[in-house]
Amino acid sequence: MDLAAISGDIERVIVTEEALQARIKELAAQVDKDYEGKDLLLVGVLKGAVMAVADLSRALQRHVEMDWMAVSSYGSGTKSSGVVRILKDLDRDITGRNVLIVEDIVDSGLTLSWLKSNLESRGVGSVEILSILRKPEAAKVHVDVKYVGFEIPPDFVIGYGLDFDEKYRNLPFIAVLAKHMYS
Ligand code: 5GP
Repeated sequence: MDLAAISGDIERVIVTEEALQARIKELAAQVDKDYEGKDLLLVGVLKGAVMAVADLSRALQRHVEMDWMAVSSYGSGTKSSGVVRILKDLDRDITGRNVLIVEDIVDSGLTLSWLKSNLESRGVGSVEILSILRKPEAAKVHVDVKYVGFEIPPDFVIGYGLDFDEKYRNLPFIAVLAKHMYS
């Protein structure tokens, strides 16, 4: 979906499609280098990371496996609490595997911090995190995100997998949702 179709719903575009695609190529080159000679399993966090896994995996110049998890973070409204429930677990055993968790955004860090420890407890070879976006000002817990696409301000953003009320995931860019859409 193009900007023209939803321009009244957003305040501004913060990451253009071109900038996103260029950054994903850079991240993929880094991942190619870091995992040279090793196996690699991408674990996408549903549903937000669908676009990121699709683009990152196609930019990698190597074989890669993919698996998916869906988690729900309990909290009040839009705030995450760190209490996480698994809605869909991995299909395959990950003992000894090199796992790269792919996420859309790190906000408080609570969800990813829980997910990383959960996967680490399964006897993996390694677990690292790649997130397209990070809101540094919102961090509640320290979570080591090895690959970050863009640092953004603590506004509510949509697009490229990120939704508001299940909509806007199919925008090829990332934008700040206009206040009038939710207040
Ligand atoms: P955390 O546990 O890091 O606070 O929460 C991360 C999750 O909250 C993300 O995976 C995403 O689903 C949601 N989230 C955090 N910030 C935003 C945002 O600006 N826009 C959208 N659409 N979701 C967000």
